[in-house]
Amino acid sequence: MKHIFAALCLLAAPAAAQNAPHVVTDIAPIHALVTQLMEGVGEPSQIIPTGSSPHSYAMRPSEARALRDADLVVWVGPSLTHWLEEPLDTLSGDAARLTLMDDDRAVKLPMREATELGEEHDHGHDGHDHEGEVDPHGWLAPSNAVLWASVISKTLADVDPANAEIYEVNSKRFAEEVGALEQEITAKLAPYHDASFIVLHDAFHYFEATFGVEADAFIVAGDGSTPGPAQIKALRDHLAEDPATCAFTAPQENDSLLRTVIEGQGTRIAVLDPMGDGTTPYATLIRQFADDMVACFSQE
Ligand SMILES: [Zn+2]
Repeated sequence: MKHIFAALCLLAAPAAAQNAPHVVTDIAPIHALVTQLMEGVGEPSQIIPTGSSPHSYAMRPSEARALRDADLVVWVGPSLTHWLEEPLDTLSGDAARLTLMDDDRAVKLPMREATELGEEHDHGHDGHDHEGEVDPHGWLAPSNAVLWASVISKTLADVDPANAEIYEVNSKRFAEEVGALEQEITAKLAPYHDASFIVLHDAFHYFEATFGVEADAFIVAGDGSTPGPAQIKALRDHLAEDPATCAFTAPQENDSLLRTVIEGQGTRIAVLDPMGDGTTPYATLIRQFADDMVACFSQE
């Protein structure tokens, strides 16, 4: 009898997974976060494939289909993926929607201007005046991830009350994990608050602000816009006089501009991944990010 019962349980397991809510996420780190919250219930899907830049992307039919079937959509917001706003309305208009950067309690940083980082750039005529805009890369602040985990788990419980307890337990575990991580990284980066570095794409501001390091300059702005040849030359001349220790790029970026800007300056290039592969747990992603940064600073 015991054996039959066990067999029935095995049969029941896939059925439960089929009843999991259809949750659609935008980018890899948000997919990873929701995957952790849904552990034991099901798996979310991810619209923007790992390795693609979210600032501009053309959806494939399978991704549009996932949106059409969605019960819940979790996305960073239009400041990161402006192009996604319309498909969300037309394809997943009936689904619940969480726009993470819209949460009033989230840490929000303004989009940085190149001039704030010590560069003399000609603004006002290039159509890239970011004044008042929020930097959309907010998942690199661990406090935002913890806030969002709590909000997402409550929304998951609304959409899928049968599994409410699982979502709550997963969210609490996530908060503990990330709280410990924050302390760990604070200690690791403490010796490097004065380290000089530049970034290819201004995507790491939330991490920098959380842990007390600050980029001297960036090349591609927070919204993905690229400077003209004159600005690149100005930046290159500036850095030639005062070279940075490290230059950080990301796996999603083409680093040829970065190499041009630091050529012959003895600056070390390192890759920091702000996105992950969509399944690596959030804490692992951020820990690796910090470790890769420290590895570059601490090279002799
Ligand atoms: Zn970006």
